[in-house]
Amino acid sequence: MGMYDNVRFEFTCPKCGRMLDGFQSKDGDCVFDTLKPEDVWSWHRLCPCGEWIEFEWEKDFAKGPKRVDRDFGERTDKPEGKA
Ligand SMILES: [Zn+2]
Repeated sequence: MGMYDNVRFEFTCPKCGRMLDGFQSKDGDCVFDTLKPEDVWSWHRLCPCGEWIEFEWEKDFAKGPKRVDRDFGERTDKPEGKA
């Protein structure tokens, strides 16, 4: 079991409609702090329905966070639409 920080973020599961909070991230100091999404690069949690919910910031911070779909495999660190 790893250490992590809590991230204060709310998202409605697209699969079951549950309102989720209590996201986690390993990008901070991992001392069970409560952070804002702005403090970390990515955050995630597993919905009780089995849906994996993970967010990360766009390279361009102003665009806001985007959901990362783990099911589609490779995560890309490249901004979309740019070489
Ligand atoms: Zn769900």
